Amino acid sequence: MAVTKKNRRYGMIVDVDLCTGCGACMVACAAENNVAPAPEKATDRTGITPMRVYPVHNGAPADKRQTAFLPLLCMHCSEPPCESVCPQQAVELDEATGIVTQMPQRCLGCRYCMTACPYHARYFNWWDPQWPVGMEATLNPTVAPRMRGVVEKCNLCASRLHAAEDQATADGQPPPATYVSACVEACPTGAMVLGDLDDPTTEAQKLAHAEGTFQLLAKLGTGPKVHYHSSRPWVRSLAERSAKEQANA
Ligand code: SF4
Repeated sequence: MAVTKKNRRYGMIVDVDLCTGCGACMVACAAENNVAPAPEKATDRTGITPMRVYPVHNGAPADKRQTAFLPLLCMHCSEPPCESVCPQQAVELDEATGIVTQMPQRCLGCRYCMTACPYHARYFNWWDPQWPVGMEATLNPTVAPRMRGVVEKCNLCASRLHAAEDQATADGQPPPATYVSACVEACPTGAMVLGDLDDPTTEAQKLAHAEGTFQLLAKLGTGPKVHYHSSRPWVRSLAERSAKEQANA
């Protein structure tokens, strides 16, 4: 029997109160997506970190100081500012999945999209990727490495989604409930949940509407599909500050 696919709106909810800042999500992201080790000359902004965990503080004196960890990735905006500025149509909001896709083959490296992204979630490849001898054997064959001169970012492990969809089609099943990104899979505390935000049966949909859930820079109207959750008011108040300010706090 043919299975009708409806559009989905994949998004993520990050529970900041559960994040310990261990960085497992960053490592898993790099391994899954064939992100090469940064060359020695790379700086804080010229390295490639599609998933990056920032420590943030409450600004109180040392004896009352609190720290939280904020995993930052592409927000997969419903109104992505990076899409409209790209002269190459290298950025596209996939209406079927809600994922903002990046096509390196079309990118000419102008970096307009990086300027337009208020979340600093895009990265320019300043160098061709190079892996230590022998490490090439560990590369993920389902993800093409990006070349020097193009921009990249998180695509919510789209190759995993495609594999799960193929399997679901082969099994005659509806869209895959098994799809999970590498970062979510690797998190030892279960701080991140991925799912269809329009499907009321998903945990992601419920968490997105839970008390204490917020979006970063919601006032800009970009409609981020990555949400955060915290019971701490000072963490929630960070949401209206830019990612750069948060990183420097
Ligand atoms: S893996 Fe989980 S706990 Fe560790 S830094 Fe990432 S989100 Fe936080």
